[in-house]
Amino acid sequence: KANKLFKQEETVIDVSGNKIGGKHFAVIAGPCSVESTEQIISIAKDVKAAGARFLRGGAFKPRTSPYSFQGLREEGLDMLLEARAATGLPIVTEIMSPHHIELFEKHVDVIQVGARNMQNFELLKELGATTKPILLKRGLSSTIEELIMSAEYIMASGNEKVILCERGIRTFEQFTRNTLDLSAIPAIKKLSHLPVIVDPSHAAGHHWMVEPLSKAAVAVGADGLMIEVHNDPANAKCDGPQSLKPEKFQRLMEILKQLVKIE
Ligand code: PEP
Ligand code: MN
Repeated sequence: KANKLFKQEETVIDVSGNKIGGKHFAVIAGPCSVESTEQIISIAKDVKAAGARFLRGGAFKPRTSPYSFQGLREEGLDMLLEARAATGLPIVTEIMSPHHIELFEKHVDVIQVGARNMQNFELLKELGATTKPILLKRGLSSTIEELIMSAEYIMASGNEKVILCERGIRTFEQFTRNTLDLSAIPAIKKLSHLPVIVDPSHAAGHHWMVEPLSKAAVAVGADGLMIEVHNDPANAKCDGPQSLKPEKFQRLMEILKQLVKIE
């Protein structure tokens, strides 16, 4: 169960030695979308050198418009596998449909459920029957309690390996893409033993806000960060404005390493 009443000790998710939760702070980094083999391998090498322990990259993309880039799908997944082979970084990528469960269970190290699918209960139930850790992102307009109940759906079906992610919520504010709810981190820590990470990139929508929000995430006790990094943000197929260039990401990691032990 996700509730602290049933388990005091903080859950640690261990993906072949890469840990998140408990005392382990880890960084997941990579592009919004996988765009080519060269792109993903080059970013994977850069983020690994900077200290990231997981590579992210979308292959199946939940875009607001059906006419926007939808991701390279199976082909994108293959590219992620190549990047994993080249760097050893475990891969984190989003699933959108229960049809892909088998494919993801077979190849993906951490299966991401995006904000838009946080309450896709049938998908959550099926993910509960897999053995892979699930990165569950908070819905755009979901309460903390709803997020924890969605984790409960996965856990109730047998999979206790859930990482929660605060990625900003919808408010009246328009300057930022979303409003990062920093108070969700201590709140979740009080209610649940599950690890909780922060995605400052999708919260802010602006690359220059990623550093201050990352520092804030550390200050409020997050167990990790998920940060979008792109080799050429100006020409990114998705979320360029919020993506850090590899050099900037490396500088951010240096700064964060002075605040927290990054594993
Ligand atoms: C993402 O991580 O690429 C993503 C689509 O995020 P979210 O589901 O939080 O919008
Ligand atoms: Mn994105």
